[in-house]
Amino acid sequence: KTEVHICMTGCRAYGSSEVMAAIEEEVGKQGVSKQVEVRATGCHGFCAKAPVIAIEPMGVQYQEVNPEDAAEIVSQTLRQNRLIDRLAYKDPSTHRPVFYRREIPFYMKQERRVLANCGRIDPTKIEHYIAAGGYQALVKALSKMTPEQITEEVIAAKLRGRGGAGFSTGLKWKFAREAEGRPKYIICNADEGDPGAFMDRAVLEGDPHAVLEGMLIGARAMGAEYGYIYVREEYPIAVDHLTLAIEEMKELGLLGENILGTGFNFHLSLKMGAGAFVCGEETALMASIEGKRGMPSARPPFPAQAGLDGKPTNINNVETWANVPLIIKNGAPWYAEIGTENSGGTKIFSLAGKVNNTGLVEVPLGVSVKEVIFDIGGGIPKGRKFKAVQMGGPSGGCIPEQFLNTPIDYDTIQRLGAIMGSGGMVVMDENNCMVEIARFFLSFTQSESCGKCAPCRLGTTQLLEILTRITEGKGQEKDIETIKDLGETITLTSLCGLGQTCAKPALSTLRYFLKEYEDHIKEHR
Ligand code: SF4
Repeated sequence: KTEVHICMTGCRAYGSSEVMAAIEEEVGKQGVSKQVEVRATGCHGFCAKAPVIAIEPMGVQYQEVNPEDAAEIVSQTLRQNRLIDRLAYKDPSTHRPVFYRREIPFYMKQERRVLANCGRIDPTKIEHYIAAGGYQALVKALSKMTPEQITEEVIAAKLRGRGGAGFSTGLKWKFAREAEGRPKYIICNADEGDPGAFMDRAVLEGDPHAVLEGMLIGARAMGAEYGYIYVREEYPIAVDHLTLAIEEMKELGLLGENILGTGFNFHLSLKMGAGAFVCGEETALMASIEGKRGMPSARPPFPAQAGLDGKPTNINNVETWANVPLIIKNGAPWYAEIGTENSGGTKIFSLAGKVNNTGLVEVPLGVSVKEVIFDIGGGIPKGRKFKAVQMGGPSGGCIPEQFLNTPIDYDTIQRLGAIMGSGGMVVMDENNCMVEIARFFLSFTQSESCGKCAPCRLGTTQLLEILTRITEGKGQEKDIETIKDLGETITLTSLCGLGQTCAKPALSTLRYFLKEYEDHIKEHR
């Protein structure tokens, strides 16, 4: 059967629902419903060209499709296997809207492993996930591996936490496994909240069972009986797809008591967060699940010793969990054959800002920043010059042009004053003012600070005041030293990650774009 895969997640904002309805109507009208399946899928990744549809097995992708294109797509491509050169297209002089996917530069350097099912399967149907090889890893983990072997496999794969800190996932599991106390909990942190980041959202919307399968395998490895998915309420499609997926799993006996007759018990619940950025911090997230105000606490004790309700708890983010079935199904050597010496596998980035091909990108760890922004991202619009890329969201820092050839890896990015973070990449061109960029990110963290500790509560307010007055042309020479001192003090003395990283945008722009600060201040004098 020919399949038409229509993104019904991100592309909905550009009218994919109407495109899908029009194609379904035409398929009926032109009498090919027996030969053609029109399928609602997750994201194809190429958000700049939404709405995107793919036709398989031809390997064709139509971009920026309108409902008026439906009749031609069905008559030419679905009935006669012919490509259409031009659709009824907004600006035919600048684009060619049909491609064989293998020829699209956006996809050529990508290695879509975690995103393999996104844009292909219907995420609301467990049978699609199973047909694509889903739950084979769980069966292997339950029937052929001990919990220790599962953990060792994840350690050998060199999977590092994709949420930002980059700690070894397998080691974290080992600590939780060896911790005393019952019951044990695992949590999926789906509280993605960085401006410009939408990786976890796309995985949850497009392939929720990959995350759930990863959690089940992790629960088995750590001996956890209960799990929570902490997902933000502003992700309604993700919440719907997760809710459906959990129901499907229960119906098939993949959740609850005695899973697949192996004696393994695991119960999973969804908990919706109200969208506070600080709730992405582990201790604040657990407080929120316990029904308390989402505020961080001092560590130790670490969650592996005393987490949710004081019991051993492991927290990993969406992308980390979604990597686990790949490791168990294919083995650690396969997984770690791409990546760097210390970090195996791929990383998903959301490419946003001043770049031609905005979208969702999955690349092996170790490719350069330049490859992502220029080869995959298609460079900077309107022929403008690249200036910097902000990596790691408001907790990250900017990387200027001279480091474009830097390989993307947790350790190298950190050495440059940024962080990998969860994978947000916001590109700036020559027209962006870097002081304004620092002010923008600081205004975000200042308003998201929970106020529990003075360095962050007062420090972010003061730092924001200074940056605002510099951008308004009211800065003073001493402001530059004050930003450095204050930034370092907030970093060293704040209680949680939000405060410890919030000064990075200011400190990294000062490090690489000092002249812009000086010019703003000179304008005033
Ligand atoms: Fe709250 Fe900021 Fe202190 Fe974290 S560092 S506990 S967000 S005030």
